[in-house]
Amino acid sequence: MSDDRNESGHPRVPIPPGLASALATAGRVFALTGAGVSAESGVPTFRDALTGLWARCDPLELATPSAFARQPKLVWDWYAARREALRDAAPNPGHRALVDIERRVPSFLLATQNVDGLHARAGSRSLVELHGNLARVRCSREGRVVDRWDEPVEGSTTPPRCPHCGAFLRPDVVWFEEALPAEALERADDAARHCDLMIVAGTSAEVYPAAELPRTARAAGARGVEVNPRGTPLTPMADFAIAVPAGLALPAFVAAAWPGHAAGPDGESPPSRAGGGAK
Ligand SMILES: [Zn+2]
Repeated sequence: MSDDRNESGHPRVPIPPGLASALATAGRVFALTGAGVSAESGVPTFRDALTGLWARCDPLELATPSAFARQPKLVWDWYAARREALRDAAPNPGHRALVDIERRVPSFLLATQNVDGLHARAGSRSLVELHGNLARVRCSREGRVVDRWDEPVEGSTTPPRCPHCGAFLRPDVVWFEEALPAEALERADDAARHCDLMIVAGTSAEVYPAAELPRTARAAGARGVEVNPRGTPLTPMADFAIAVPAGLALPAFVAAAWPGHAAGPDGESPPSRAGGGAK
């Protein structure tokens, strides 16, 4: 990786000057992220996670309300395994660059399609999780989030139950066939309508409603930048396209917009060296 970085540790990613100033002068920035941002943290995509025990499973048998109604314990176990796999994942420089942007622009919102919670762990505060969060669990009947639960004991055939009403607990994620949380969607839509600059990173945004957000922003007159190693259906609409993974592109984007500012929580100056040879 050393060839990808200059002496100050910033990735060598060319950022068009017009793009750097678009970020530095933006009043309102809206960012939309997807699986590509998590990939660099070693988070497997939904389909990539279908390995080992789960290799023969059909996603539609694991991530729908009807699957949960038929085989609640199987679905619970699948999400428990993914939750466990997330313990080894950590936010990457792409996540942290979005925290930097949030701290520097007057108004900011990040909408993510990822359920791994890594944006929140990196420090993003103005954040909507469009598809929920794998780490959270809620009551399948009342919808209320439950903070503590006991994992099923060996041989149990049911998921743990809600301490309030006794219904099964389920992951607080949006399944196929389910609507997105209305409040999250409204906040994202509002941000798209009012932003000056929209950043789309690590997602081809082919699925509604994420697909709609860049179009909404564009129709409202915002400029758009896409960060994705591969072209997507959004590329022709973007004012700027950076064909580099988010973990390299976003820190370079921040460095270009605010030159001279150290990057994020990890970018603090190294401790000064003691005993510089003076006698
Ligand atoms: Zn309940």
